[in-house]
Amino acid sequence: MKIAFFSTQPYDKEYFERYNKQHEILFFEARLNEQTATLTRGCNAVCAFVNDQLNKGVLNTLNEMGVKIIAQRCAGFNNVDVVAAVENNITVVRVPVYSPHAVAEHALALIMTLNRKTHKAYNRVREGNFSLDRLTGFDLYGKTVGVIGTGKIGQCFARIMQGLGCKVVAFDIVVNKELEALGIKYLTRQEVLQQSDILSLHCPLTEQTKHVINSDTLEIMKNGAMLINTSRGALVDTMAVITALKNGKLGYLGLDVYEQEEKLFFHDLNENIITDDVLVRLLGFPNVLITSHQGFLTDEALTQIAIVTLQNITDFEEHKQLKNKVSVPAGAYK
Ligand code: NAD
Repeated sequence: MKIAFFSTQPYDKEYFERYNKQHEILFFEARLNEQTATLTRGCNAVCAFVNDQLNKGVLNTLNEMGVKIIAQRCAGFNNVDVVAAVENNITVVRVPVYSPHAVAEHALALIMTLNRKTHKAYNRVREGNFSLDRLTGFDLYGKTVGVIGTGKIGQCFARIMQGLGCKVVAFDIVVNKELEALGIKYLTRQEVLQQSDILSLHCPLTEQTKHVINSDTLEIMKNGAMLINTSRGALVDTMAVITALKNGKLGYLGLDVYEQEEKLFFHDLNENIITDDVLVRLLGFPNVLITSHQGFLTDEALTQIAIVTLQNITDFEEHKQLKNKVSVPAGAYK
């Protein structure tokens, strides 16, 4: 098939070229949106990533251009209007699992760095400053870690934290019996928020989870708690979090995702003026660590993403059953 590949990064090209055997791929650095949708003219497949916009208008254009399949090279599909895709007779596929370990381990990296301040120590020592002043952390051993969402990533994360000697408590709309058997305790969301020294978000972005961390939920968290979000930016009300950081309610914040990441993340804006004042405010806190959506970025995950995405497209072309097809959620038709 002829694939229009959007939001291309050098590592995407490297891995997809390595594993592509039969498709023609046109790599575009541009994000897919209303302005770039016509680049798909003559292509029958689109390969999209988390910040590509596949709203109704874009999907109508893709249909006019002859696109038959959208292959998301990620697990989430909150950027795709799946109802509009069905209306345009466009199939949507995704990569439901690539490496849950990659994201869970990145959440741990954020926790370890925020806690033991290795990023600051690294810079200090390089500049000949061997002082330990203000580098004090805390033992993770014995702390209570709350996990919201114990799906593929959340359960890896829960096991890692349990391995470090933490007490792990969790909230999910579905209880994972295996985790329960390991001693991970399911509580109400409120109880998890109240008890956690560290709270990590691993649920998808839905209408129910949007701004699950807001001024009310922050209020019931422990004073000085650490909040980690490697899932989707809009799970957190950023303005509420800034207030909580300013008044000391929140002790640490680690983000791999940000509500307004779309225009910033994945780009080198080194010489640009950052016009997002909210992000700049966040960066001004000494107890905030932000990475630009790199949780998935391991060799194992990139390999799996390329292989499964290409296989999804091949299966579609060969009229095989699509095991990774995204279906319209129940009740989505109004
Ligand atoms: P998953 O579908 O396996 O697990 C999600 C879990 O959340 C499920 O157990 C589900 O029951 C639970 N859930 C759904 N609604 C909930 C609610 N209202 N409250 C509590 N729990 C709820 O997904 P996953 O593979 O573990 O991925 C989790 C999220 O991580 C994804 O949705 C995606 O947003 C994010 N992600 C981030 C990166 C990254 O690079 N940072 C990479 C992959 C995925």
